[in-house]
Amino acid sequence: MLFGDPTLAWLARAAEDPIARHRKNLPETLDFRRHAEVFLHTFHAAPPGTELGFPLVLRAGRLHFPEALASQSRYQPYIEGGRFVGTFHVHPPDRAPFFDPQDLSGTLRSDNAGFLDLLLARDRLYALVRSNPYLYVSAHHVARNPLLLQETHAQQLRRTGSRDPEGPEYPEQYRKAGLYFFHRYQLALYEGDPQEALKRTVTPTGSW
Ligand SMILES: [Zn+2]
Repeated sequence: MLFGDPTLAWLARAAEDPIARHRKNLPETLDFRRHAEVFLHTFHAAPPGTELGFPLVLRAGRLHFPEALASQSRYQPYIEGGRFVGTFHVHPPDRAPFFDPQDLSGTLRSDNAGFLDLLLARDRLYALVRSNPYLYVSAHHVARNPLLLQETHAQQLRRTGSRDPEGPEYPEQYRKAGLYFFHRYQLALYEGDPQEALKRTVTPTGSW
């Protein structure tokens, strides 16, 4: 039914039952190679300063990208007859090199029905998986203050010694600041070239 694709099979399990997202059950790799062309096309089509994207919908064992529904901040659990599992979006070169605090608060808000967020930034594809469904940020608080995580993120960025957004160290410093939230909220991270299977580089610790 799932065409022998382990990533699709895992996505289907994880959509049904969060236990499949538990750190003990996370796959080593997630493979979105067959979608690399769509992802790269979206990346190159994004005008400076914009973050184009679309929802990821699992239907009949395949991933669909309803582009007509692009750029909404939130999605219903079921879209066009399929299960909403998360989002894809791009950061053009003038945007953050990694998930920014607004991305993270959107991912973590309590009314987010998805558990997977893909980001294409600076030639790298990142996949964030919400491993622990019981750790979240109140949607009410995020709605009232979309910059909820901004302050903590800025503090973390300063702790890495970051001063110059144009400096060669900045992407790694920015990534480290974001990883603070990965550890705190038990998010898993996969990353790599969009033309290759993504390897898990951050595994949540802690129990639930
Ligand atoms: Zn973003």
